[in-house]
Amino acid sequence: MEETLERKIWDLIVVGGGAAGLMAAGTAARDGKSVLLIEKMEKSARKVNITGKGRCNLTNMCTPEEFLEKVRSEGGAEFFAPSLGFFGVGGLCHFFKKQGVKLEVEQGKRVFPAGGKAYEISDALRYWCADNEVVVMLNTKVEQILTSSGKVYGVNYKNKRGFIRKAECRNVLIATGGASYPATGSEGDGYGLAHGVGHTIVEVRPSLVALRSDHPKFAELNGLRLKNTRAFLEVDGEVVCEEFGEVEFSPRGLDGAAILRLSRSAVDAVIDERKVELALDLKPGMTEDVLRDRIAREVTELDEKAFTADLLRKLLPRGLVFFVANEAGVNPKTFAVRLTEEEIGRLIGAMKRAVFPIVDYGPWEQAIVTAGGVSLAEVDPETLQSRLVKGLYFAGEVLDLDADTGGYNLQIAFSTGRLASQLRG
Ligand SMILES: Cc1cc2nc3c(=O)[nH]c(=O)nc-3n(C[C@H](O)[C@H](O)[C@H](O)COP(=O)(O)OP(=O)(O)OC[C@H]3O[C@@H](n4cnc5c(N)ncnc54)[C@H](O)[C@@H]3O)c2cc1C
Repeated sequence: MEETLERKIWDLIVVGGGAAGLMAAGTAARDGKSVLLIEKMEKSARKVNITGKGRCNLTNMCTPEEFLEKVRSEGGAEFFAPSLGFFGVGGLCHFFKKQGVKLEVEQGKRVFPAGGKAYEISDALRYWCADNEVVVMLNTKVEQILTSSGKVYGVNYKNKRGFIRKAECRNVLIATGGASYPATGSEGDGYGLAHGVGHTIVEVRPSLVALRSDHPKFAELNGLRLKNTRAFLEVDGEVVCEEFGEVEFSPRGLDGAAILRLSRSAVDAVIDERKVELALDLKPGMTEDVLRDRIAREVTELDEKAFTADLLRKLLPRGLVFFVANEAGVNPKTFAVRLTEEEIGRLIGAMKRAVFPIVDYGPWEQAIVTAGGVSLAEVDPETLQSRLVKGLYFAGEVLDLDADTGGYNLQIAFSTGRLASQLRG
């Protein structure tokens, strides 16, 4: 089969069969283009299958304005707006419904397949390509983009037997994803491919990733999951951002949705060797005064032999009781009725501001997305064609385009894949 493929000049070669690549390949083929999709793994869309803890949070039912606020890279919202306008949340939901996937909207307007399985989404994308007669080569890695006089004419790829071969085409779409979770095939190859033809790569670093603290008591909190916490990211003593939501203490570090949303700025600050701290408000629903009144009330209601630990248990999850007492420098075995005003003040301080020094962040193997990538300045947002090489397009996470958790990153992949497939350049 390879010999026949080699003699053909494809309208489009798509490099990478992930969310963006499969959407683009199927769409271009439906529109009458001859399309070759090259995927280096033995199966396409491996990453899609592990998204949303195996359930795939494919998009978010927010307004376009709200969506664009979730895009984090510099100039990213402006760049992504034409893609979202071309193929937005409604278009994506309609697409999957037409492919036979029922969808449901959950808390936070997050959209999942109703069947609860991410593979419903990856299967639908593969069928989309098969139904439209995309030719797919698996176990095949693109190693070089071929250009002549500033125009694309093909790719060099390594076939499953390890031989280098050439495929010719009029257009190439690089949809190789980022560098996170490399076992899924996304190992950052796209950066080398793009750089090889002159593109600038904005420094890549893990994002939506757990943050590591060297707090001496951190290990004692392992396994604790706090639902409603306000988290402040402080860099060199200044609050740079805050988030509300779930915070988890895991062997990976500080984790959970609120932390992941702060992680992009935290990772950048750690890389720049600045002083990074996370301050957690463990009682965000109460001001210090309200908390003081509550403590006074609890103390009067408690048995006079009750300890400070018993008092704290009325206010906090069990796992935090000794931590907060320790942070406040109060012996948890002090009788609650004997607590001084000053000690109560310190307990309140420890609850309203539990500080964790951040010294590192999780590795690529644990990061949900990649921050950085192909510089947006060198890609036309209206077409997603390279401004440097004619016939070269980009879609998905390979671009310097990343967003919060909540279904935004997959929508970015689908929207950019769809727009790029139009080959409007
Ligand atoms: C654990 C986890 C959970 C996530 N959950 C969500 C979620 O619920 N919602 C959400 O919106 N986002 C989620 N994301 C992020 C989302 O999965 C990605 O942003 C999205 O998959 C990016 O799509 P893509 O098509 O750009 O890249 P990918 O899906 O990574 O696909 C890239 C493809 O290119 C192939 N490839 C790479 N190099 C080559 C090469 N040289 N030759 C040929 N093929 C190549 C790869 O093998 C891969 O198949 C999650 C990510 C992770 C890691």
